Amino acid sequence: MQPKSLKDNLVEGVDYKIVYVEKIDCTSCCSCVSNLPEYFRLDDQDLSETHNHGENINSAIIFKEDWEKIQNQMEICPGECILWKE
Ligand code: SF4
Repeated sequence: MQPKSLKDNLVEGVDYKIVYVEKIDCTSCCSCVSNLPEYFRLDDQDLSETHNHGENINSAIIFKEDWEKIQNQMEICPGECILWKE
């Protein structure tokens, strides 16, 4: 049996959003990676991508209690390329 991913464990009704990086606009400044390493890392081309403990690559699940810190990072990202998935 496959280990369950975080997505499989989501409980219906729990507030979460998905965040990703539009890599083509990333300047590789590393601000997000330094400030929020639990959600951002650099790929092998030094472009940022989101993750949850190395899973959900560039589709990280963010629970409500962390929305504000992601939002703050969005506002200081020079590439304006950290986005919520609609
Ligand atoms: S803050 Fe923005 S531009 Fe800088 S590495 Fe992160 S996603 Fe890229």
